[in-house]
Amino acid sequence: MSRHVHAARPDPAVPGRTFLVFGAAVATLLLPVVLGHDARRIAQLMALALPLLAWLLWPVRSPTLHRLRLALVWLWAMGFAMDGVVRAYLLETYRAAPDSALVQSAAANTNGRETAEYLAMHWRAMLVWSGVLLATGLVLGRLARHGARAAAPWPRWAVAAVSLLLLIGAIGYASKPWRRLHPLLFWAHWNQSVQALRADWADLQAERDAALARARSAAPTVTLETPATMVLVITDSINRDNMSLYGYDRATTPMLAARKAQLKDQLLVLRNAWSVDASTLPSLRNMLKFGAPEAEKPQHVLALARAAGYKVWWMSNHDDVAIEQQHARLADVVEFVNRVPGRAGASLDGELLDCVQEALEDPAQRKLIVVHLMGAHPHYSLRFPEGANPFDDTFDGVDEALEKSGRSAWVRHFREEYDAALLYHDFVVSKTLQLTRSIGRKDQYRAWMYLSDHGQEVGHGSDNAGHSPQTASGYRIPTLVWRNTASASWGAAAEARPFRADWAGWTIADLLHLRWAGEHAERNVLGVDYRWQAPALPVQVESFVD
Ligand SMILES: [Zn+2]
Repeated sequence: MSRHVHAARPDPAVPGRTFLVFGAAVATLLLPVVLGHDARRIAQLMALALPLLAWLLWPVRSPTLHRLRLALVWLWAMGFAMDGVVRAYLLETYRAAPDSALVQSAAANTNGRETAEYLAMHWRAMLVWSGVLLATGLVLGRLARHGARAAAPWPRWAVAAVSLLLLIGAIGYASKPWRRLHPLLFWAHWNQSVQALRADWADLQAERDAALARARSAAPTVTLETPATMVLVITDSINRDNMSLYGYDRATTPMLAARKAQLKDQLLVLRNAWSVDASTLPSLRNMLKFGAPEAEKPQHVLALARAAGYKVWWMSNHDDVAIEQQHARLADVVEFVNRVPGRAGASLDGELLDCVQEALEDPAQRKLIVVHLMGAHPHYSLRFPEGANPFDDTFDGVDEALEKSGRSAWVRHFREEYDAALLYHDFVVSKTLQLTRSIGRKDQYRAWMYLSDHGQEVGHGSDNAGHSPQTASGYRIPTLVWRNTASASWGAAAEARPFRADWAGWTIADLLHLRWAGEHAERNVLGVDYRWQAPALPVQVESFVD
């Protein structure tokens, strides 16, 4: 009898209503999360948010505990909501993520007055987003008040569903990259990075000022009467072995090959070009600081160009604080077109072509335009337009050779994507050459140089794909040079010269017609006095000349 009464007591509507409340809370929170994150992240964030929201399903009799739960669940959910809204605001306003160089440097660089000015300018947009946040807060507060109070039997499906949710949540918290997305951890870490950046800041500004002062004291001059324009294209992760221009079997560089056929000896294709570094930061430092970044008083080629009267541009599809601080900010004009770092924020290199054109149309007499491309930086599939992979549905000689040498299916697949990235890259690079040759005054001197920061291993020397300090593929890069002077005609002998990217500064200086104290003519691959010295690479290279 008593058992009967006991079983009849709970209101069958109660579990149904709490599940409804829980579902509504999840749906409410989903709105700001969806606004601020991409699809994969939405799922991950919701998995992190759910375990505490599920507390609403747990019967809580004590009024104190009930109030505590209300406060905790609300604060917890609002953390996720605020994270989503801030991200959505940054995405909409700057197409940037909070951990992008743009946002982090802005945050590190700001002061009270600037913040006030910023708010004065952007209060309308902020009001809208605050409205979203406020509404979310009100609804969530309402819902959290209706968390379960009395125990009631759960239907079996509900037990299963909630267990599954908790299990997914547990997996989320166990995984480090996943857990890092939790708003509490993410913003704590963000704050740390901003503080660290702020600490570094003064130094780098001082470093740049010092580089400019050193350049001025070297008193560089330009040995040229006419206006001059040089475009320097620095790309990322391009292995020359994958360019048909260099003899690769897949037609990955039809446009550059056509330019070569048209320009013949005027377009120098350095057949044996090497980087001495397998990653971007050290490579760029070497390239722009004449191979001696650790020297006591290193010269920076951008600083020298500026000291000699060049107007300097740095336009980039990278989003990298270090590159921005160490090199880009030495330029007069700095443009970063890709403000969402990481895989989600892919913007194609072609986005830069408008900037290149604009800079070429600028009326300045002497111009150095540096274009920093993503090239074929992993992940390869993000480096070409969707569907533009002609290599993925045929089995060709390259596939066959890879298969014969025992490369796994995933490496062969990456090779196809890598080659598709090169095909798109071919379009961008040849376009920069075409623009350099065609825009601006007819009587001006023009030069163009293209090289990669380092190579890439995509099943060439090992069953791997990616940056590769351990194989020669990590260092094999393309290097092309063009200029419009009559004397610039390079034959096969010049093309066979081995070249190292850490000496590129001397060649860039030559293309800019710079003269200054401290030149090393024997390191300029274009000069008559050029003398090759093999670099000491971390990997054994049989021969630097193929
Ligand atoms: Zn790189």
